[in-house]
Amino acid sequence: MKKTVIITGAARGIGRACAELFAAHGYQVLINYYRSAVAAAELHRSLKAKGYPVALFQADIRSRPQVDRMVEYCLTELGPIDLLINNAGIAQTSLFVDLSADEWQEMIDTNLTGVFHCTQSVLRTMLPRRQGKIINIASVWGQVGASCEAHYSAAKAGVIGLTKALAKEVGPANIQVNCIAPGIIETGMMDPFTPTEKAALKEQTPLERFGAPEEIAACALFLASDGANFITGQVIGVNGGFVI
Ligand code: NAP
Repeated sequence: MKKTVIITGAARGIGRACAELFAAHGYQVLINYYRSAVAAAELHRSLKAKGYPVALFQADIRSRPQVDRMVEYCLTELGPIDLLINNAGIAQTSLFVDLSADEWQEMIDTNLTGVFHCTQSVLRTMLPRRQGKIINIASVWGQVGASCEAHYSAAKAGVIGLTKALAKEVGPANIQVNCIAPGIIETGMMDPFTPTEKAALKEQTPLERFGAPEEIAACALFLASDGANFITGQVIGVNGGFVI
């Protein structure tokens, strides 16, 4: 029987690489998107054309009613949810003293509260089945902090804390909760960085390159597999040695 995964922010970047890899490995995939309707429809079409069972749903993860409707839609279209990948997120750079309260709030609402909404909504369906996995996409900056990204670092550190606490709480129900902390990954999220800033980040990475979205997806596929059934509450660094 095919397993079902919800992937948030699956139209682009890391989420899209996850959608393509999980679909190719026999998962039924609910592609969540928010603003990227065209890219999401194109991904949905291309996966369907390959014969993969996929569904598409627009939801802003900051909105609990929209998240609940997405989970309901997934249950109806694809069946019980085996896996949630909390991937959707935003980035922004600002001196801490210049950060507005609105910018702070938007970051926390998206990168931390969005994870809360999706996880709680999906967990309510996993707990009675006593099975399921949650994979959160955190960041190296949640581990070590980034200058000029205090709000992003705080939100991602929150995701790491949530992962560890929840792993303890739902472990007895046979549900594994882990996070991946990517280093610098070549996606649209890196577009605002100048060539000089990118070169500096590469220099700080022992493997001297950025990661590919597919390399995060490969780690997620392993964490989702039965081979990872004894792994929970962990922060897996996929970062080229950026944080050791
Ligand atoms: P990306 O290409 O900018 O994609 C971000 C995704 O998040 C998009 O699919 C976007 O969906 C979605 N999203 C944003 N706000 C949303 C909302 N309110 N509701 C639903 N979806 C929303 O970035 P990425 O690099 O793939 O990032 C994916 C995750 O990896 C993020 O959590 C990011 O923090 C984390 N990460 C990235 C890096 C990196 O270097 N790239 C490093 C560490 C961690 P729409 O386009 O449909 O709105």
